[in-house]
Amino acid sequence: MIQFVDVVKSYEQGNNALNGATLQVEDGEFVFLIGPSGSGKSTIIRLITGELKPTSGTVHVNGYNLERIRKREIPYLRRTVGVVFQDFRLINKMTVYENVAFAMRVVGAREKEIRERVPYVLELVGLESKMDRHPNEMSGGEQQRLAIARALVNNPSTIIADEPTGNLDPERSFEIMALLQEINNLGTTVLVVSHDQNLVELFGKRVIAIDEGVVVSDGLEEEEDIYETE
Ligand code: ADP
Repeated sequence: MIQFVDVVKSYEQGNNALNGATLQVEDGEFVFLIGPSGSGKSTIIRLITGELKPTSGTVHVNGYNLERIRKREIPYLRRTVGVVFQDFRLINKMTVYENVAFAMRVVGAREKEIRERVPYVLELVGLESKMDRHPNEMSGGEQQRLAIARALVNNPSTIIADEPTGNLDPERSFEIMALLQEINNLGTTVLVVSHDQNLVELFGKRVIAIDEGVVVSDGLEEEEDIYETE
């Protein structure tokens, strides 16, 4: 579960990035986080991963209290949250297989586990036939799939995708969102940060909208006419 209660975050210079943000995402949910540039979306991601601490208010992520978390606990928190970065952060010198395997090696997985798990996640994202390629020999959509495979490989309970369709055409964007939905169906909580209003509407999921560091709406994107009379 991800829970923010009255979270304020100020950076050393400038205004508050978050101004009392309150939101809760339950285990197993699929949620879009939307808001204009500068509204605080990246700050929310960085608070979830323990990269930042709240100035005030409380942040709980998958059983960890981010105000009180000790430095040595942060790697354990991060294993519960897989992040798919906007710029992918893939390693071009390594093959597709090695990019994913590397994420397991850094958390101390055994070779036997790596040999079993990497092909499984590459198959899940549809890259099983591209294991020996290098990221710079692949399309944007394929690189995005690889970034998702790497985020998934250590079996996190939550995946955060930062603008996963930012650089893709509508068809590829739809495929990536469908993949994230499939991952959600397998039980992983999915939080997608997106600007893409059309895509958000298409998927009919819960949408948390933020502006100027506060949650301005939270619910399903479909318009409901609650004032309708008989
Ligand atoms: P978004 O991801 O929605 O574009 P951010 O969380 O990056 O928004 O930024 C929210 C606000 O915090 C913006 O006004 C931004 O300028 C400010 N901000 C973000 N990072 C820093 C930083 N490292 N130092 C100072 N101000 C920052």
